[in-house]
Amino acid sequence: MMKVFICPACGSITTVSRRKEMFCHKCQGTKMVPSKLTFSKYTEMNEQERKDYSESWLYIRNHTKGEPS
Ligand SMILES: [Zn+2]
Repeated sequence: MMKVFICPACGSITTVSRRKEMFCHKCQGTKMVPSKLTFSKYTEMNEQERKDYSESWLYIRNHTKGEPS
């Protein structure tokens, strides 16, 4: 099953299969965290929606101590 990972530093989103750890290539090694976004949902999103998701995810992450959804 594919998983969606997001970079807490730049908001870059990537999908991976099997791997439990993923490092952002844009940030040169920032450890990415698994997103609650499902792979099927992610594939349905367009570029703008992905950008919006990434921005709001980063906002929540940086402004609350809660886990972004
Ligand atoms: Zn990054």
